[in-house]
Amino acid sequence: MKHVLVTGGAGFIGASLVRKLLENGDKVVVIDNLITSNGESIKPLLKNPNFKFIKRDIIKPLPSSIINHQSSIGHIFHLACPTGVPNLTKLAREMLLTSAIGTMNVLELARKHKAKFIFTSSSEVYGDPKVFPQNENYTGNVSSVGIRSPYEEGKRFAESLIMTYVRKYNLDARIVRVFNTYGPLMSINDTRVIPKFLKQISKNQPLTVQGDGRQTRTFCYVDDLIKGLVLLMDKGGEGEVYNLGSNKEISINTLAGLMIKITKSKSKTINISRPSHDHNRRLPDLRKANKLNWYTKVGLDEGLERTVRWFGF
Ligand code: UDP
Repeated sequence: MKHVLVTGGAGFIGASLVRKLLENGDKVVVIDNLITSNGESIKPLLKNPNFKFIKRDIIKPLPSSIINHQSSIGHIFHLACPTGVPNLTKLAREMLLTSAIGTMNVLELARKHKAKFIFTSSSEVYGDPKVFPQNENYTGNVSSVGIRSPYEEGKRFAESLIMTYVRKYNLDARIVRVFNTYGPLMSINDTRVIPKFLKQISKNQPLTVQGDGRQTRTFCYVDDLIKGLVLLMDKGGEGEVYNLGSNKEISINTLAGLMIKITKSKSKTINISRPSHDHNRRLPDLRKANKLNWYTKVGLDEGLERTVRWFGF
């Protein structure tokens, strides 16, 4: 049985990861300050003797004893950071400080425990990319003073700090750049496009397509992503960076149509203004993760069906 710490474990991806780790027989501690979640997704786990929840902001120092385990922490999945486009302004300072000071505190904990470490970085480190597909060597197109910079630069700073700990202290850390992900355990109040469209469908409202809807994303079903994170903790190389996500590109227009079809909704779409900082296209090169035998299994149709059912449509 491994002792695992998940920071940000009450969030959408975190709570999905924690379920998988518990299923695998691990003992899991979550640290989360619940700044962007209400903790509902981990409530059912509180009865599990192998699960422990600590409500705490990682910006505060994390004494080694905080974990309060007999044995030391073997693996750390460091996910904690507010996300979501509206939070780019609302929680800008928190994004930056969590990524910088929070990451340093978690890295110090990893050093003390000699733990293996995974950081969930983001496709946002590539900014609004000019190179397609983005492989892990692409250095990105990011404005350090733009509206998105608290998240983009926060993640970039965290990556840099982690690499410093790898080089200086031989910390066994790897970085995963997560592309858009969706699935069960997302909140219906999440502002990301899939839950937002689902909420609009549930209220028979029009789906708000920003701009002309020709911007694209790739959407990865959460189970595929979680398999990747667990695999990379085990097989990912020290100081290596991996993209994880889907490489099936879809426009927001097509996504809206697909969601209307799958839910048999009568909702239409309307075009609303698009933020000037919205990225045009994103497309990961997944060959590095593929070499470790990670492939997505759940296509968008199937993943949306499962998500829609989970939301009770
Ligand atoms: N989007 C949209 N309508 C919405 C919300 C989002 O058309 O109500 C679009 C947005 O312009 C972006 C894409 O969906 O191009 C993904 O947005 P999201 O906020 O999910 O995440 P992002 O990938 O931008 O971080």
